[in-house]
Amino acid sequence: MGSLWKLLRHVDELKAYYIAIAVISVLLAVTALASPFLLQGATDHVVKRIQGQPSPVSTVIWFAAAILAAEVINALLSNIGGYLGDVMSMRMRAILSSRYYSKLLRLPQSYFDNNLSGAIIARLTRSISELSNFMQMVSNNFLPMIVTLVAALAVTGFYYWPLTVLLVLIFPVYTWLTALTSERWQRYEKAKNEHVDIAGGMFAEVISQMRVVKSFVAQRRELDRFNDEYTETIALTRPQSKWWHQMDGIRRTVLAVIFFGINAMILVQTMNGRFSLGTMVLLIQLVGMAKGPVTGMSFLVDSTQRALAGSRDYFSVLDEQDEPGASLDPVSPTQQLPAPVPGAAAVEFRDVGFGYDQEPNVLDNITFTVQPGERIALVGESGGGKTTIVNLLMGLFPPRSGSIELFGKPHTAHGLDTLRREVGVVFQDASLFSGTIEANIKYGAPWATDEQVRQAAVRANAAEFVEKFADGYQTVIGERGLKLSGGQKQRIAVARAMLKDAPVLVLDEATSALDTKSERLVQAGLEELMVDRTSIIIAHRLSTIATVDRIITIEDGRIDEIGTPAELAASGGIYAQLLSLQESGSKQDRKRLQSYDILR
Ligand code: ADP
Ligand code: MG
Repeated sequence: MGSLWKLLRHVDELKAYYIAIAVISVLLAVTALASPFLLQGATDHVVKRIQGQPSPVSTVIWFAAAILAAEVINALLSNIGGYLGDVMSMRMRAILSSRYYSKLLRLPQSYFDNNLSGAIIARLTRSISELSNFMQMVSNNFLPMIVTLVAALAVTGFYYWPLTVLLVLIFPVYTWLTALTSERWQRYEKAKNEHVDIAGGMFAEVISQMRVVKSFVAQRRELDRFNDEYTETIALTRPQSKWWHQMDGIRRTVLAVIFFGINAMILVQTMNGRFSLGTMVLLIQLVGMAKGPVTGMSFLVDSTQRALAGSRDYFSVLDEQDEPGASLDPVSPTQQLPAPVPGAAAVEFRDVGFGYDQEPNVLDNITFTVQPGERIALVGESGGGKTTIVNLLMGLFPPRSGSIELFGKPHTAHGLDTLRREVGVVFQDASLFSGTIEANIKYGAPWATDEQVRQAAVRANAAEFVEKFADGYQTVIGERGLKLSGGQKQRIAVARAMLKDAPVLVLDEATSALDTKSERLVQAGLEELMVDRTSIIIAHRLSTIATVDRIITIEDGRIDEIGTPAELAASGGIYAQLLSLQESGSKQDRKRLQSYDILR
């Protein structure tokens, strides 16, 4: 129950709704209780008349009219309560969803590397809808029922306390039987949810990579994997449901026995003359009213359990550790980047060591500097740790040892947001969003004017093809830019980096997914982008590498050599070997080159 209280406190901006709903629940109970009392009065009048005493017919009609009024008011109140419940649960859903999303946006990259995105989405959908459905149900049904029940107990207590004892007895018995049921039920539910989340994760992955799935003709296999997960949930539902209904059968039987006692007591005591006929009618009605909530209780328990599981899932994500210093403050055009320390290097790695999760280090003793305006190439075998260096520079992961400085200050000194504004990256995969070309180019600088967008596109060598589209910059490019060629996407990504205008630029194999012709077009844009910027280039062409100021070669996660292209060409190290391999025509040598992600 604790996590449900936590939930209520978590969304305490809905307090006004909670209070209004509670007040309406009390009023609902009062109007619901009016009917039995009015019937009691009416019945006693009828009995009087039958016994030959004076009792005008109009009195009974007034009683009936009062019952009508009570029911109309009750209907009105219950609909107002229903309305408030609907709005409250939708607002709760919106608040919970937004908090979940904003939490995800603040989590470190490692969280996303370790969780299937579909599973993250499935968890959001399920736990939040279960929580808000529960709240809606509580406010629309259970709360009024429970208030009515308490009132009914008080009234029966007033007339004949043994009746109340029997009614009250129902609850411990019922709760005990339900608790017996619930533990096992929850275990099944948790296992089921895991399968549903995995299926959801696979589903989202397949939908987003449909082209790959189709090209490998893997549709059937994917469908089967998906079905397998759901088959498991059916297999788990059978024993789960059987257990639940078996226990429910027992529960209801026990309940029926107790109600037998209550009915017998009322009937016998009326015959003994303890209750008038009107009081008998009143008590039978009250007991009937109490019976509703009790049988509804198994339903309440069921949805409470779901909501508990949902809120545990929800808070397990909310309790994850944020990225240090994570904020969701928007970037503003007037925000200045911190001033560089005079004379400091643009980028400095000092004895950096790093490994992912619990894995052994993939980088060790990485020490190098990049001077402002300098161009540096990172060369090393595929899997050697080049992208990892970029990840560290972007602050996606903290180094295990050593330190990184940017313009003379610890690179996270001004917060991760500032750091990431100082470092622009063009990846191998352009990773565009589904909106318009303009929205994509402006992604890092939403305040940019049309002219600035166009200028960026011209410099990125993208303007020509963009302006050929009928809708120009307003062309919608489909999810992840599916409607553009690889080279076109990459040129949009270059324009995007152009507008972001970060002082440090990283090109991580920015052209390696492209054919030669697109590569030339993108390279021209990249050259423009690198003008007046400190650049770190991970490239797959020795010709590109040969034009940089200095080269850093990496072997087994350690720096092998640092020097100008001319120095390294003469040193006999990795770069020199690559150059000579390039000269050689042998198959073996070409293979060796390819392991460095290097083409001729
Ligand atoms: P490169 O860019 O030089 O090809 P990477 O930096 O991508 O190499 O990878 C270096 C090593 O780190 C590889 O062994 C790779 O398997 C591992 N690695 C890369 N990214 C991750 C990650 N997100 N989680 C765990 N290991 C990773
Ligand atoms: Mg890489």
